[in-house]
Amino acid sequence: MRGVIFNLQRYCIHDGPGIRSVAFLAGCRLRCPWCCNPESREADWPDNREVAAEDLAAELAEDAPYFLKSGGGVTLSGGEPLLQPEFCAAVLERCRARGFTTAVETCGDVPAAAFAALDGLVDLYLYDLKHTDPARHRELTGGSLENVLANLRALAGRGQGLVLRLPLVPGMNLDAGHARSVVRLAGECGVARADLMPYHRLAEKKYAALGRGGMPAGDAWADPAAADDLEQFAAALRRGGLDVTIGG
Ligand code: SF4
Repeated sequence: MRGVIFNLQRYCIHDGPGIRSVAFLAGCRLRCPWCCNPESREADWPDNREVAAEDLAAELAEDAPYFLKSGGGVTLSGGEPLLQPEFCAAVLERCRARGFTTAVETCGDVPAAAFAALDGLVDLYLYDLKHTDPARHRELTGGSLENVLANLRALAGRGQGLVLRLPLVPGMNLDAGHARSVVRLAGECGVARADLMPYHRLAEKKYAALGRGGMPAGDAWADPAAADDLEQFAAALRRGGLDVTIGG
Protein backbone atom coordinates (compact mmCIF):
# COMPACT_ATOMS: atom_id res chain seq x y z
CA MET A 1 0.00 0.00 0.00
CA ARG A 2 1.48 3.32 -1.07
CA GLY A 3 0.49 6.92 -0.40
CA VAL A 4 1.71 10.46 -0.98
CA ILE A 5 3.00 12.75 1.75
CA PHE A 6 4.47 16.23 1.48
CA ASN A 7 6.09 16.67 4.88
CA LEU A 8 7.03 14.91 8.09
CA GLN A 9 7.65 16.80 11.32
CA ARG A 10 9.18 15.38 14.48
CA TYR A 11 8.97 16.41 18.16
CA CYS A 12 5.53 17.97 17.84
CA ILE A 13 3.61 18.65 21.06
CA HIS A 14 0.38 20.26 19.81
CA ASP A 15 -1.15 17.50 17.71
CA GLY A 16 -2.21 14.94 20.28
CA PRO A 17 -0.78 13.70 23.57
CA GLY A 18 2.94 13.49 24.36
CA ILE A 19 5.72 13.90 21.84
CA ARG A 20 4.58 13.09 18.33
CA SER A 21 5.70 12.82 14.75
CA VAL A 22 3.26 14.23 12.24
CA ALA A 23 3.03 12.98 8.66
CA PHE A 24 1.31 15.41 6.30
CA LEU A 25 -0.56 13.63 3.54
CA ALA A 26 -1.04 15.31 0.19
CA GLY A 27 -4.42 16.24 -1.22
CA CYS A 28 -7.42 18.22 -0.01
CA ARG A 29 -10.80 18.93 -1.58
CA LEU A 30 -11.40 22.14 0.35
CA ARG A 31 -10.02 25.54 -0.55
CA CYS A 32 -9.89 27.44 2.73
CA PRO A 33 -8.41 30.84 1.93
CA TRP A 34 -6.50 30.90 5.24
CA CYS A 35 -4.88 27.49 4.63
CA CYS A 36 -1.34 27.38 6.04
CA ASN A 37 -0.44 24.29 3.96
CA PRO A 38 -1.52 25.36 0.46
CA GLU A 39 1.13 23.07 -1.03
CA SER A 40 -0.94 20.11 0.20
CA ARG A 41 -3.42 20.88 -2.58
CA GLU A 42 -0.82 20.77 -5.36
CA ALA A 43 -0.40 17.43 -7.11
CA ASP A 44 2.98 18.49 -8.52
CA TRP A 45 4.49 20.08 -5.38
CA PRO A 46 8.22 19.17 -5.48
CA ASP A 47 8.29 17.92 -1.87
CA ASN A 48 5.51 15.39 -2.51
CA ARG A 49 6.82 11.87 -2.21
CA GLU A 50 5.21 8.54 -2.71
CA VAL A 51 6.00 6.14 0.09
CA ALA A 52 5.02 2.63 1.12
CA ALA A 53 3.02 2.37 4.34
CA GLU A 54 5.60 0.09 5.96
CA ASP A 55 8.41 2.52 5.07
CA LEU A 56 6.56 5.51 6.48
CA ALA A 57 5.71 3.57 9.65
CA ALA A 58 9.38 2.62 10.01
CA GLU A 59 10.48 6.22 9.47
CA LEU A 60 8.01 7.40 12.10
CA ALA A 61 9.18 4.68 14.47
CA GLU A 62 12.68 6.20 14.61
CA ASP A 63 11.39 8.36 17.45
CA ALA A 64 9.85 5.45 19.36
CA PRO A 65 11.74 6.13 22.63
CA TYR A 66 10.22 9.63 22.81
CA PHE A 67 6.74 8.34 22.01
CA LEU A 68 6.81 5.54 24.52
CA LYS A 69 8.22 7.69 27.31
CA SER A 70 5.76 10.57 26.76
CA GLY A 71 2.61 8.67 25.81
CA GLY A 72 2.99 10.17 22.37
CA GLY A 73 2.95 8.69 18.94
CA VAL A 74 1.94 9.48 15.43
CA THR A 75 -0.48 11.97 13.93
CA LEU A 76 -1.66 11.91 10.34
CA SER A 77 -2.52 15.36 9.04
CA GLY A 78 -2.47 17.15 5.73
CA GLY A 79 -3.98 18.22 3.49
CA GLU A 80 -6.76 15.80 4.20
CA PRO A 81 -5.38 12.39 5.22
CA LEU A 82 -8.74 10.66 4.83
CA LEU A 83 -8.55 11.10 1.07
CA GLN A 84 -6.07 8.19 1.34
CA PRO A 85 -7.95 6.03 3.86
CA GLU A 86 -6.43 2.63 3.05
CA PHE A 87 -2.94 4.09 3.25
CA CYS A 88 -3.78 5.73 6.60
CA ALA A 89 -5.10 2.42 7.90
CA ALA A 90 -1.97 0.57 6.79
CA VAL A 91 0.31 3.13 8.49
CA LEU A 92 -1.74 3.32 11.69
CA GLU A 93 -1.99 -0.46 12.04
CA ARG A 94 1.80 -0.63 12.05
CA CYS A 95 2.07 2.24 14.52
CA ARG A 96 -0.44 0.61 16.84
CA ALA A 97 1.51 -2.64 16.67
CA ARG A 98 4.55 -0.75 17.94
CA GLY A 99 2.61 0.66 20.91
CA PHE A 100 2.30 4.26 19.69
CA THR A 101 -0.84 6.33 20.21
CA THR A 102 -2.49 7.37 16.97
CA ALA A 103 -4.23 10.59 15.98
CA VAL A 104 -5.77 11.89 12.76
CA GLU A 105 -6.52 15.50 11.92
CA THR A 106 -9.37 15.81 9.44
CA CYS A 107 -11.60 18.47 7.92
CA GLY A 108 -14.41 15.90 7.98
CA ASP A 109 -15.59 16.51 4.42
CA VAL A 110 -14.83 13.02 3.15
CA PRO A 111 -17.01 9.96 2.48
CA ALA A 112 -18.20 8.17 5.63
CA ALA A 113 -16.45 5.05 4.33
CA ALA A 114 -13.09 6.75 4.92
CA PHE A 115 -13.78 6.89 8.66
CA ALA A 116 -15.05 3.33 8.59
CA ALA A 117 -11.72 2.23 7.09
CA LEU A 118 -9.97 3.51 10.22
CA ASP A 119 -12.36 2.01 12.75
CA GLY A 120 -10.45 0.84 15.81
CA LEU A 121 -7.15 2.32 14.64
CA VAL A 122 -7.43 5.91 15.89
CA ASP A 123 -7.08 7.02 19.51
CA LEU A 124 -7.89 10.64 18.85
CA TYR A 125 -9.50 12.64 16.07
CA LEU A 126 -8.58 16.31 15.77
CA TYR A 127 -11.71 17.40 13.97
CA ASP A 128 -11.56 20.73 12.16
CA LEU A 129 -14.69 22.82 12.15
CA LYS A 130 -14.39 25.87 9.94
CA HIS A 131 -17.86 27.35 10.25
CA THR A 132 -21.23 26.37 11.68
CA ASP A 133 -23.39 28.02 9.01
CA PRO A 134 -23.78 25.76 5.94
CA ALA A 135 -23.92 28.56 3.36
CA ARG A 136 -20.94 30.39 4.83
CA HIS A 137 -19.01 27.11 5.13
CA ARG A 138 -19.63 26.39 1.45
CA GLU A 139 -18.76 29.92 0.42
CA LEU A 140 -15.50 29.96 2.39
CA THR A 141 -14.19 26.44 1.87
CA GLY A 142 -16.11 25.00 -1.07
CA GLY A 143 -17.11 22.07 1.16
CA SER A 144 -20.29 20.65 2.64
CA LEU A 145 -20.96 21.40 6.31
CA GLU A 146 -23.74 18.81 6.22
CA ASN A 147 -21.20 16.12 5.39
CA VAL A 148 -18.75 17.41 8.02
CA LEU A 149 -21.46 17.28 10.69
CA ALA A 150 -22.82 13.89 9.62
CA ASN A 151 -19.33 12.39 9.96
CA LEU A 152 -18.76 14.16 13.28
CA ARG A 153 -22.03 12.85 14.72
CA ALA A 154 -21.23 9.34 13.52
CA LEU A 155 -17.80 9.48 15.17
CA ALA A 156 -19.26 10.72 18.42
CA GLY A 157 -20.64 7.29 19.25
CA ARG A 158 -17.54 5.30 18.44
CA GLY A 159 -15.48 5.69 21.59
CA GLN A 160 -12.23 7.24 20.38
CA GLY A 161 -11.12 10.69 21.58
CA LEU A 162 -12.58 13.66 19.75
CA VAL A 163 -11.31 17.24 19.90
CA LEU A 164 -12.73 20.11 17.86
CA ARG A 165 -10.16 22.27 16.12
CA LEU A 166 -11.43 25.73 15.31
CA PRO A 167 -9.50 27.92 12.90
CA LEU A 168 -10.50 31.42 13.93
CA VAL A 169 -10.38 34.24 11.43
CA PRO A 170 -11.45 37.78 12.35
CA GLY A 171 -14.49 38.84 10.37
CA MET A 172 -15.25 35.27 9.41
CA ASN A 173 -15.97 33.12 12.43
CA LEU A 174 -14.47 34.83 15.46
CA ASP A 175 -17.82 35.88 16.87
CA ALA A 176 -20.31 35.08 19.60
CA GLY A 177 -22.77 33.34 17.25
CA HIS A 178 -20.17 30.82 16.09
CA ALA A 179 -19.07 30.26 19.70
CA ARG A 180 -22.69 29.50 20.70
CA SER A 181 -23.09 27.07 17.78
CA VAL A 182 -19.85 25.30 18.68
CA VAL A 183 -20.98 24.86 22.29
CA ARG A 184 -24.31 23.46 21.12
CA LEU A 185 -22.69 21.04 18.72
CA ALA A 186 -20.07 19.93 21.23
CA GLY A 187 -22.84 19.18 23.74
CA GLU A 188 -24.76 17.19 21.16
CA CYS A 189 -21.69 15.13 20.22
CA GLY A 190 -20.25 14.72 23.73
CA VAL A 191 -17.08 16.62 22.80
CA ALA A 192 -15.28 18.01 25.85
CA ARG A 193 -12.39 19.94 24.31
CA ALA A 194 -11.78 22.53 21.65
CA ASP A 195 -8.45 23.80 20.33
CA LEU A 196 -8.56 27.34 19.02
CA MET A 197 -6.28 27.84 16.02
CA PRO A 198 -5.86 31.59 15.51
CA TYR A 199 -5.39 32.73 11.94
CA HIS A 200 -1.86 33.82 11.04
CA ARG A 201 -0.03 34.75 7.89
CA LEU A 202 3.06 32.57 8.30
CA ALA A 203 2.31 30.77 5.03
CA GLU A 204 2.60 33.89 2.94
CA LYS A 205 5.95 32.79 1.49
CA LYS A 206 4.47 29.45 0.47
CA TYR A 207 1.72 31.24 -1.45
CA ALA A 208 4.36 33.34 -3.16
CA ALA A 209 6.33 30.19 -4.03
CA LEU A 210 3.23 28.67 -5.57
CA GLY A 211 3.11 31.68 -7.86
CA ARG A 212 -0.61 32.12 -7.45
CA GLY A 213 -0.65 35.35 -5.52
CA GLY A 214 -0.54 35.88 -1.81
CA MET A 215 -2.98 35.01 0.91
CA PRO A 216 -6.24 36.84 0.67
CA ALA A 217 -5.66 40.32 1.88
CA GLY A 218 -7.95 43.10 2.72
CA ASP A 219 -10.40 44.57 4.94
CA ALA A 220 -12.10 42.39 7.39
CA TRP A 221 -9.87 39.46 8.11
CA ALA A 222 -6.39 40.06 6.76
CA ASP A 223 -4.96 40.67 10.20
CA PRO A 224 -4.31 38.05 12.86
CA ALA A 225 -6.88 37.77 15.62
CA ALA A 226 -6.57 40.19 18.53
CA ALA A 227 -5.73 38.52 21.84
CA ASP A 228 -8.81 40.03 23.50
CA ASP A 229 -11.15 38.64 20.84
CA LEU A 230 -9.61 35.19 21.21
CA GLU A 231 -9.96 35.32 24.97
CA GLN A 232 -13.62 36.31 24.67
CA PHE A 233 -14.27 33.44 22.29
CA ALA A 234 -12.42 31.03 24.59
CA ALA A 235 -14.39 32.31 27.59
CA ALA A 236 -17.70 31.70 25.80
CA LEU A 237 -16.67 28.10 25.10
CA ARG A 238 -15.51 27.58 28.67
CA ARG A 239 -18.83 28.90 29.98
CA GLY A 240 -20.43 26.30 27.75
CA GLY A 241 -18.47 23.59 29.56
CA LEU A 242 -15.62 23.04 27.10
CA ASP A 243 -12.00 22.62 28.01
CA VAL A 244 -10.23 25.10 25.70
CA THR A 245 -6.66 25.48 24.53
CA ILE A 246 -5.38 28.24 22.31
CA GLY A 247 -3.06 26.85 19.67
CA GLY A 248 -3.71 23.14 20.21
S1 SF4 B 1 -9.04 21.70 4.97
FE1 SF4 B 1 -7.02 22.18 5.81
S2 SF4 B 1 -5.57 21.60 4.21
FE2 SF4 B 1 -7.59 21.71 3.25
S3 SF4 B 1 -7.69 23.78 2.40
FE3 SF4 B 1 -8.63 23.84 4.44
S4 SF4 B 1 -6.99 24.41 5.83
FE4 SF4 B 1 -6.01 23.75 3.91
